[in-house]
Amino acid sequence: MENEKEFLRSHNIKPSIQRIMVLRFLRMNPLHPTAEEVYQGLINEIPTLSRTTIYNTLNFFAEKGLVKVLNLGHNETRYDLNTDEHVHFKCIKCGRIYDLYLSCNLPQKGDVVDGHIITEREVLLKGICRICKGKKGGDDEVQV
Ligand SMILES: [Zn+2]
Ligand SMILES: [Zn+2]
Repeated sequence: MENEKEFLRSHNIKPSIQRIMVLRFLRMNPLHPTAEEVYQGLINEIPTLSRTTIYNTLNFFAEKGLVKVLNLGHNETRYDLNTDEHVHFKCIKCGRIYDLYLSCNLPQKGDVVDGHIITEREVLLKGICRICKGKKGGDDEVQV
């Protein structure tokens, strides 16, 4: 995997320490963290970090096409480093979000359906994930 600096530069982003740290965190936590999770994950390493910096960095990444913003309802905004076409599966027990590669016949970006132009496609499946499915009770002990 190319290093963080190169990766940021290839997206026309000037690599600052915060940006490198946020990118590294996203790479190490591929289960679509929220901004708050990114903040909690980095605050020990960068004590001067603010939530605003995290939000701004993530939104800047999104603007540059480096991450996808997922709006999964209930004001739950998550960030996805995987910009390949894929659908999401959300576990209703533990809340983990998984990437699934399915070929579905839904319209693509740019298609016109009934006169409406599709500009985004976000498919969310819900259910019980393989980890929770294998557990016998004790839902509360799920580690995220
Ligand atoms: Zn689960
Ligand atoms: Zn994803």
